[in-house]
Amino acid sequence: MQLLRLASVLLLSTGFALAQNSNGTLSALTAADQAANAAPAEPTTPHSFDLSAIDKTADPCTDFFQYACGNWRKANPIPSDQVRWGRFNELSEHNRYLLYLDLKKAADSPQTALQHKYGDFFAACMNTDVADKLGDKPIQPILAHIDSLSDKKQLGMLLAHLQTQAGVPAFMQFRVEQDQKDSTRQIADTAQGGLSLPDRDYYLEDNPRMTKVRAQYHDYVVGVFKLIGDSPDKAEAEAKSVIDIETALAKGSLPRVELRNPDNVYHIMKVTELNTLAPDFDWTAYIDGLSAPHFDTLNVATPEYFKTLNQVIDGQSLDNIKSYLRFHAANTFAPWLANDFADASFNFFQKTLQGQVEQTARWKRCTALTDRAMGEAVGQDWVKENFPPSAKENMEKLVAALKVALAQDIQSLPWMSEDTKKQAEVKLDAFRQKIGYPENWRDYSKLEVKRDDLVGNLRRSATFRWDWEINHLGKPVDEKEWGMTPPTVNAYYDPPMNDINFPAGILQPPFFDNSKDPAVNFGGIGVVIGHEMTHGFDDEGSKYDAKGNVKDWWTPTDRKEFDARTDCEVKEYSGFEPVAGTHLNGKLTLGENTADNGGIRIAYQALLSTLVAENVSPDKKIDDYTSPQRFFISFAQVWCENRTDEVQRVSAKTDPHSPGMFRVNGVVRNFDEFGKAFGCHKGQPMMPDDACRVW
Ligand SMILES: [Zn+2]
Repeated sequence: MQLLRLASVLLLSTGFALAQNSNGTLSALTAADQAANAAPAEPTTPHSFDLSAIDKTADPCTDFFQYACGNWRKANPIPSDQVRWGRFNELSEHNRYLLYLDLKKAADSPQTALQHKYGDFFAACMNTDVADKLGDKPIQPILAHIDSLSDKKQLGMLLAHLQTQAGVPAFMQFRVEQDQKDSTRQIADTAQGGLSLPDRDYYLEDNPRMTKVRAQYHDYVVGVFKLIGDSPDKAEAEAKSVIDIETALAKGSLPRVELRNPDNVYHIMKVTELNTLAPDFDWTAYIDGLSAPHFDTLNVATPEYFKTLNQVIDGQSLDNIKSYLRFHAANTFAPWLANDFADASFNFFQKTLQGQVEQTARWKRCTALTDRAMGEAVGQDWVKENFPPSAKENMEKLVAALKVALAQDIQSLPWMSEDTKKQAEVKLDAFRQKIGYPENWRDYSKLEVKRDDLVGNLRRSATFRWDWEINHLGKPVDEKEWGMTPPTVNAYYDPPMNDINFPAGILQPPFFDNSKDPAVNFGGIGVVIGHEMTHGFDDEGSKYDAKGNVKDWWTPTDRKEFDARTDCEVKEYSGFEPVAGTHLNGKLTLGENTADNGGIRIAYQALLSTLVAENVSPDKKIDDYTSPQRFFISFAQVWCENRTDEVQRVSAKTDPHSPGMFRVNGVVRNFDEFGKAFGCHKGQPMMPDDACRVW
């Protein structure tokens, strides 16, 4: 739930092309799978504070990212099955490998009912022999259902079926989330959706690069229609319909930056008012088909979009609409069908769009898929093996230290009035935290998994997830639920919950290492904790009060002062150019940049307080570096990475996080303590005169 609004420390997901679907009847993995599977080998164990990563020929005051990460970057080119490769990818791959070992064991010799279930899910996914033999058969019932449509009036029922029984998103999004102005309530929410490319700009921008991407997308869509058995002429005509419809939907969609403002996406309406926005869509049949508990009102996040949707339904022929839906069904399942489907999907979404050279090994994809479908099942065994109770205790201490530092930081702000400071304190005091894994695990007993039916498993797990979500409607909020699975290398702040969340997966080196001095841990996980806390006070989070409601708790003067300071960051980051001709979008990345900049300040303050309490001089050197220097190197090394140019371009359009280089250099240049620690002079690139500061 509310996944759209979670503010995480890393990219949440690519957000497109990866359908979350899942199914098999083998006694064990087949020979071909064993071969595809032969590659798994234990990846290197990531470690914290890596002296060998440092490029001592670089000047830290000129380019700190190069100094802290230069040698690592040289020694770690992007593997052919990745589009970015950084320290957190190392950890993520390590976690995935350990999870794979659990899944393989569960597939071969399960000990518990739960292992039997997720083992079968994994085995079904690994069975490429069956997938290749079946071709498009597993999705034929869905395609036949779409083909059987004889009247646009039946579209409501069909879309509900696709959503609840197949996990195929089309035309719009429908979900349950907390009421943004009364966070105790869980309400229905519908919003723009229905695109296949990463962002509306891919359909609308008029430049040679986007024109080329659209031509490549056209070829992919034609290819998918041919794969499901259509003649070349028919496939061409159908592709035109798909792209016409998606382009019209893109025109009616709000840009990402506007979706960041909670006021832009809050429109509580009566269900009957949907008929005014989109009279040509049968809302009654659609809502009946969702099997939802009764509701009279809902949030229509993007009302104008639904007017566009109505024009599309009204203006396009029934056959064109069917083409759009057939493509969305085939595209959703393509990565998990026969090889030719999976290759076509890979070639466009990974290779062309993001620059990935080789398809990711099957065992990696199936491990990730099983984690997505049954994360709180596989996570139970994973945390037993990989998450010691001491890690949780140590995290609690760190979080407490960071809370104290943020309170001090708020008190010290020269531009904020006492009234607003008091309100900020109230919000900070109300922060809740979740560390490691859920107290109550999700119950998967109603999910049926078959060992010989991957697409069936994907469909049933989509239905399972839908039932789980839709039945939140009208119920009290469960504060103990998680939005990420335990092995995930990420963390998030959830504005309506006003809580910070740290899955077990991130509580390891390079972020967190019990064997290292405080400087290393405050620079790693400490900055991550500070980052999540600062999200409560970024451009978006600052609009929510202590109870998680969108409510203005600022004096007008303070809000003006805040906006002037965030504007400084918007301009600063918009000036960064990760690849020639592509600039970051300072407005899209504002929340993350604010969190990065605030996070490092409070983590640094918490480190200094800890050193005082432990009676350790900050100047005492370890490995030839003082504590402040170790703090900044540890911080920077979390973000060591290489990226393809293609992924830099996609990220600049879609990712609210800046690339590693600017998460390091953009932040240290705004924090004079960095320059002091490395003996820089005012005016050098990493200690400029025009630094920005919000928190
Ligand atoms: Zn974040």
